[in-house]
Amino acid sequence: MGVFEAIGTETHEEVLFGADRESGLRTIIAIHDTSLGPALGGTRFYPYVDEAAALRDVLRLAKGMTLKSAAAGLNLGGGKAVIIGDPATLWSEGLIHAYGRVIDSLGGRYVTAEDVGTTVEDMVLISKETSWVSGLPLEEGGSGDPSPATARGVMAALRAIGERLWGSDDLAGRRVAVQGIGKVGMDLVRRLTDVGAETIVADPNAAAVAFAVETYGSKAVLLDEIYDIECDVFSPCALGAVLNDETIPRLGCAAIAGSANNQLAVDRDVERIVDRGILYAPDFVVNAGGVINISVETDGYTLERAAVMVDRIYNNLTAVFETADAERVDPQTAAMRFAKRRIDEAGGRRFRTRSDQT
Ligand code: NAD
Repeated sequence: MGVFEAIGTETHEEVLFGADRESGLRTIIAIHDTSLGPALGGTRFYPYVDEAAALRDVLRLAKGMTLKSAAAGLNLGGGKAVIIGDPATLWSEGLIHAYGRVIDSLGGRYVTAEDVGTTVEDMVLISKETSWVSGLPLEEGGSGDPSPATARGVMAALRAIGERLWGSDDLAGRRVAVQGIGKVGMDLVRRLTDVGAETIVADPNAAAVAFAVETYGSKAVLLDEIYDIECDVFSPCALGAVLNDETIPRLGCAAIAGSANNQLAVDRDVERIVDRGILYAPDFVVNAGGVINISVETDGYTLERAAVMVDRIYNNLTAVFETADAERVDPQTAAMRFAKRRIDEAGGRRFRTRSDQT
């Protein structure tokens, strides 16, 4: 598959292919849009079936980051990187160092972070080669693991939903079905329990389920049962494409808000959700807590400043619902319009590196 063919009608600014023979590194970095600032997005280390699959994924994820940062009101562009291969067998310090040098060659137009298959420790190794890396440990002045901030952001979104649907942002007594209790989902369950909400959970990881049942009093259901639960909010915190023509007719919730990326199998699935009278909170607005948390690193990271910034997801989502009402569109369309307006107002200016500007 050709690169321009894969980009299609999208508007990616730059795609870089990097390799290092000695370590076996093969990486693709996609910069989607830098109108609002440098392209920030994580590095996914994953055993793609072939290069075309890796290219498609990195292009799609980079575009998602542009929308997410723009909708969150951040002055950041969108980018993403993939390393092709299985980290369990391909990972080496040499490979991560070589990857850091590829990032450095972009001179700050792309800033990396942790994603599926990479760790905070990898970010530390990358920082030996380039300063264009975020999500370093708290002890090193970084913002650490973004998952708690992402969970905090989902809570802010749930409060905004409460205010809109039930006239109160108090979540006490609400029933929330959480699909996936990994780093984000488990922290979300903890936060919901703290405010007196009831949680129903599903996860293939039996140990995680047992922990949630014992520690937070969650009710456990089978993986496929989570869609049918009568509840206030369904919170997808595991996989993409879980909202589709098979699952949407089954949903027993009043609203949907979770951390998973790309929850809608296809864009028009949002119409099926709206037709069923269910309130949809766009995933890229709800799950921006992680990227907001990282953005705080620019001016010196503190947990307090990050918390204040992440809590603005409440206002962001409220504004999305109000725009949807005013423009008579669904919340997904309203959020995309809001993000695109911010990008257009920046005038299509490309972020230039410091050395370009001197
Ligand atoms: P994670 O890998 O820690 O957790 C995912 C959990 O989902 C695991 O416990 C896994 O067992 C479970 N799972 C897998 N298949 C499932 C299924 N069919 N049904 C139910 N559970 C299933 O990941 P995470 O960091 O918690 O992220 C969760 C989601 O949120 C991902 O989609 C991720 O891309 C997205 N996200 C995460 C962050 C973050 O800060 N970590 C930020 C933005 C978006």
